[in-house]
Amino acid sequence: MFVYSGAIHIHSSYSDGSLKPNEIANIANEVGLDYIVLTDHNTLNALQFGYEKFYGKTLLIVGSEINDLENKNHYLVLGVDRLVGSFKDIGNNEFGNELPAIEYVKQFHKMGAVGFIAHPFEKRTQFPQHPQFPWTCWESKLFDGIEIWNHMSEWMEGLTESNKFNRLIHPLKSVVAPDIEAVKKWDELNLHRKVSAIGSVDAHSHKQNVLGFFTLDIFPYKVLFKSIRTNVLLDEKIDPERQDLFEKYKQLIIKSLKEGRSFIVNNYYGDAKGFRFFAEYKDEYYNIGEDFFVENSDKDNVVLKCFVPKEAKIRLIKNGNCIYEITSTSAIWNYDGPGNYRVECWIGDKAWIFSNNIRILIKNNHN
Ligand SMILES: [Zn+2]
Ligand SMILES: [Zn+2]
Repeated sequence: MFVYSGAIHIHSSYSDGSLKPNEIANIANEVGLDYIVLTDHNTLNALQFGYEKFYGKTLLIVGSEINDLENKNHYLVLGVDRLVGSFKDIGNNEFGNELPAIEYVKQFHKMGAVGFIAHPFEKRTQFPQHPQFPWTCWESKLFDGIEIWNHMSEWMEGLTESNKFNRLIHPLKSVVAPDIEAVKKWDELNLHRKVSAIGSVDAHSHKQNVLGFFTLDIFPYKVLFKSIRTNVLLDEKIDPERQDLFEKYKQLIIKSLKEGRSFIVNNYYGDAKGFRFFAEYKDEYYNIGEDFFVENSDKDNVVLKCFVPKEAKIRLIKNGNCIYEITSTSAIWNYDGPGNYRVECWIGDKAWIFSNNIRILIKNNHN
């Protein structure tokens, strides 16, 4: 099992970001990211102009962030070489898909794309020039995952007149934890089907008049690349010398993101190298994102284990509820019946690592 660290949801100069894709990828390589996912608004230009490749050790993968005509229902799509619908100018240099969200989610799903709902419960109301872009289309069931942590949204949501300077100077310190509502929704959705979680930066590196006051480069890419990452588990080792295998590596990463073979880490509170969460049953190991069946009579033979590279508050969450909590570098828990198990690691009151679920099911002897 190999772990690769990535930053998802990045805007380049093909939409409202400030650098070109290759410049962003070179920064990611300097910072030590294994992959980045570019998601410019309503375009795949970076793909069409050939930016998808290795930059040093970093794979640059191109997806897109789609929105509707009301600029709501932002949806990250990966693994596509074309977009669905058509785009209309909705003012302010922005575009929207003429298809409603339910329809673009459906059509992307049909063409084999992997899709994540972006910042579903964004609530920012303090500054009219920075409105919120929530998800309103929960009747759609065809998305693969949900962004439970978005650096940009969290930073903006907590912004007030009195803290804005402090927040500008310390963009990483002000980010605390995934969005509570998004986590709750994610857990609920997983009671019915597998929905994976990602954490993202939503990086733009805006050089603009941010707060009606002065011009500043808020969130340089380099700073943001040290914050929220989604680390994927792969069965294969990535060899950055093999540009010829780029497409295969890209597909493996997208597949892991789709299946939730991943965990989210805020790197600002420490590198997650060495983090493990898995279940053991009958001499087999089951990793994050995997499902397995347990015979009812065998339930005493299942254990869950977690190892963290430094001491943290480790919480075991089953079906959305915390069932154990320990402050340590490791934890071993007995099985507590079928369900979805995930872990959260906290450093004080700051979230550090959030894993996706291991799903344990009871084998029905009648089948
Ligand atoms: Zn967005
Ligand atoms: Zn975005």
